[in-house]
Amino acid sequence: MHCASVDLGGSKMAIHFSVMGRVVQRERIEIPAGCAPQSILNQAVALLKQQIGLYGPINTLVIASAPTLNSDGTIVRWPNRPDWEGLAIGSALRIAKVDRVIWCDDGTAATFGDATVMRASNLVHFSLGTGVGGGVVYQGRMLPDRELGHLLVWPGGAPCSCGRAGCLQAYASFRSLDKFVASMGFSDEATLVHWRLRAVQALSLAIANLVELFRVEVVCLGGGMLGRFPEMPQLVGALLREPGYLKATLTAPLVMQSPQGTEASVLGGLYLAEASHDVQNEICEGGIDTSKTTIRHVGNGLSFISMSTR
Ligand SMILES: [Zn+2]
Repeated sequence: MHCASVDLGGSKMAIHFSVMGRVVQRERIEIPAGCAPQSILNQAVALLKQQIGLYGPINTLVIASAPTLNSDGTIVRWPNRPDWEGLAIGSALRIAKVDRVIWCDDGTAATFGDATVMRASNLVHFSLGTGVGGGVVYQGRMLPDRELGHLLVWPGGAPCSCGRAGCLQAYASFRSLDKFVASMGFSDEATLVHWRLRAVQALSLAIANLVELFRVEVVCLGGGMLGRFPEMPQLVGALLREPGYLKATLTAPLVMQSPQGTEASVLGGLYLAEASHDVQNEICEGGIDTSKTTIRHVGNGLSFISMSTR
C-alpha cells in the first residue's frame, strides 16, 4: 500500500510518503508570508507525481489541515492565512493515480496518531505551532470538533485570532510568542523565560480542567514549539503537581512529548491513510459517505465517533 500525508500549517507544508507502512520520503515546503498559495500547491503536486513515478499509484492521501476545509476540500476559514481562503486544496491534490483523498483537522490527525501509538483510553493532544490545535480521546473515542486552542484560560487577557481574549492559543503559540517579544521590545533570555512561564501556566490550567472532565491519563504535546522549547512537557507536568491545579483526589496525567515528535500531524495523517476506510470515514471531514452517526471499533481497542461535515 502506497500512502501520502500532507500537513498544511501556518508556516509550512510537510509531506510524507509510506509504502507498506514504512515511511519512504519526508518533504517540507516552507510557506513564507505573502507567497502565492498556488505555487505551494504546484510544488506539492510535483512531489506527488514524483512519488507516483517511483512507487506507483497512491492509494490514500490524507490532508491534515490547520485551516477549516468544507466538504469540497476548499479552505473556508483560516485567520492565520486569510489569502488562502477560497483555495480548493482537496481538488488541487486529487490528481491522476491518487485513488482517494480525504481531509481532517491537523489536531485530529495528530491525536489519532498518538492514540494509536499510546493506546491510552483518555488522552489529550495539543499541537503547539502557529496556533494551538489538538484533540481529545475519551474512553477510547475521539470527541469531534474540539478546538482546544480556544479554551479560555484568562478572561479578558491576550487577544486571540477568534475575536475573543484570553484563549490558550493567545499564550502558547508561536504567534503569541512573536507578539510577546514585540511588546517587550527585545528577545533576550529573560523575555523568553517570561513567555514560557505564561505558556506553561496557560497549558496547565487548560489541562487541569480537562483532567477534571475526562480523567485524562496521558497528555501529548507536539508541534514546532517542542523543537524550540523541548522542556515544555516536563515543566507542565511539574506545575500540575503544584497545589492549586488539580484536586487532591485526581491523579496527575503523564505529560510527554508526542511520540511522533514535532511531526505528529503529518505522521498521524499517515496512520489515518493506512487505516481502514471505515475508520477514515468516521473521523474525517469530507468523508466518502454520509453515515456519520455510528460508533465503530478499531482493531487496536480504540473506537471513534464521526467528525461532523461542515
Ligand atoms: Zn480564541
